[in-house]
Amino acid sequence: MNAVPLPRGWLIPSRVQSIIDGASPPLRAGGKDLPIVNPTTEETLSVLREADAAEVEAAVVSARRAFDSGPWPRLSINERKDILYAIRDRIRVHAEELAWLECTGAGLPLMRVREQVQRAARAFEFFAETASTLHGETWTQTTGWLTYVTREPKGVAALIAPWNAPLALASMRIATCIPWGNTCVLKPSEYTPLSVLRLVEILHEAGLPPGVVNLVNGRGSATGVALVDHPGIDLVGFTGGTDTGRAIMTAAARRLVPAALELGGKSANIVCESADFERALDGSLVGIFANNGQQCLAGSRILVQRSIARKFIERFVARTQGIRVGDPLAPTTEVGPLAFEAHMQRVLAYTKVARDEGAQLLTGGRRAALERGWFVEPTAVLARSNEARVCQEEIFGPFATFVEFDTLDEAIALANRSKFGLASYVWSDDLGTAMRCSREIRAGTVWINTPMMRELRAPFGGYKESGIGRDGPAASVDFFTEQKATIIPIDPPPMHRFGA
Ligand code: NAD
Repeated sequence: MNAVPLPRGWLIPSRVQSIIDGASPPLRAGGKDLPIVNPTTEETLSVLREADAAEVEAAVVSARRAFDSGPWPRLSINERKDILYAIRDRIRVHAEELAWLECTGAGLPLMRVREQVQRAARAFEFFAETASTLHGETWTQTTGWLTYVTREPKGVAALIAPWNAPLALASMRIATCIPWGNTCVLKPSEYTPLSVLRLVEILHEAGLPPGVVNLVNGRGSATGVALVDHPGIDLVGFTGGTDTGRAIMTAAARRLVPAALELGGKSANIVCESADFERALDGSLVGIFANNGQQCLAGSRILVQRSIARKFIERFVARTQGIRVGDPLAPTTEVGPLAFEAHMQRVLAYTKVARDEGAQLLTGGRRAALERGWFVEPTAVLARSNEARVCQEEIFGPFATFVEFDTLDEAIALANRSKFGLASYVWSDDLGTAMRCSREIRAGTVWINTPMMRELRAPFGGYKESGIGRDGPAASVDFFTEQKATIIPIDPPPMHRFGA
């Protein structure tokens, strides 16, 4: 198959392969190829050569060597920082190329992806700075002794990323892992490998030594399992679904290595009568329909106070019907196709679930009437109760569910009645209401009067089945470094002399 040219001469390679020790390994005979399909046109763009256990082994050996004897962990922090800044700069230089690859391979709208690429660049800068302020502790209270505590990189990480924001999530995993001197093997989703492949090339073009970031591609059941089970892995960073997270935690526990899990969500978006109505409306639409509705932190469960519910839902539905669905590469598109066909079918199946549960279909619920592509109409349903499946299960598409409430007590109880606890949104101009929600909602992030602002300096992660661990400077230090205590006597202390 020939490479597919993109605008401005950018290319999609005719075959997507691993990158091990800074280069693609030789193609093995009889390996498995998977199609890489454009979700907008349903055309096959390329093929992905799945990394088998032997290729995963080679990637881990490379990362191991880079950690155990390579330059990366041994560079001075300023030298590492220079390379991480060079990565930031090179991502910026190639921002449009990365954005086009992401739109083409994952169907995410250009307006969204451009922001994500800039954030990826910033993440490398931010965690380089964080690593450069890493410091230890000294303890001198015990007379005659000096104890100092240093931090060391933890080793070789397996990093596993999902398809819903491939570049944003893979880059965040790498940027939080390598600045401390760790090395890694990254496995992106088999559905959306294109932008991540280019990102890993860019890391090397910017001067990252070979072996620090290795890339293996393939299905979770083949490549992913081989990676997580590999004895050369010291820790696992995973972003993806809750059931997969459980499997990964089990595999990590068998090998007694730590795992950080960023998992699913079904976040409550509480709209109170005390809210600025128009801002709450705008924010609730962003909360569910941004990123094609495929985001862990989506405000997918909209709880609206009964006194304003009728008007709010009417306006929400009218706006939903005006959403521009189409080619993700068009700068004005607001919702693109879902990432792959089976996922579109899964999202569409929830229309029947909603009907069977007696929910009222307010708008959408069908495949969008475009000629091609895995498009779903932006959808909203009014559920009979928060216990309905459409309110409890992560649908992960442009599918909003509404539930009405009367009192703030009830809204908080409903928000917490979920197995997830990733994020929540509160719309109210009453300070007491906002502060009470912040205190009582069991979720890792509470956004008040704003949709999904990600502050790199703050921890991000979930309560309950939404995850274990956090992304963020302090949390990354804890997860990606080991603490070591060195104890030295200042004066030779008295010592018992056995057998003297
Ligand atoms: P997924 O769990 O199906 O797959 C995630 C990754 O894990 C993929 O690379 C997949 O190939 C791999 N994988 C699957 N089974 C594996 C196994 N047994 N061993 C090792 N690797 C395995 O998730 P997805 O469908 O790609 O992504 C969507 C999910 O990710 C949603 O639930 C979403 O909420 C969640 N997510 C969470 C966050 C967060 O920060 N909390 C961010 C984005 C997405």
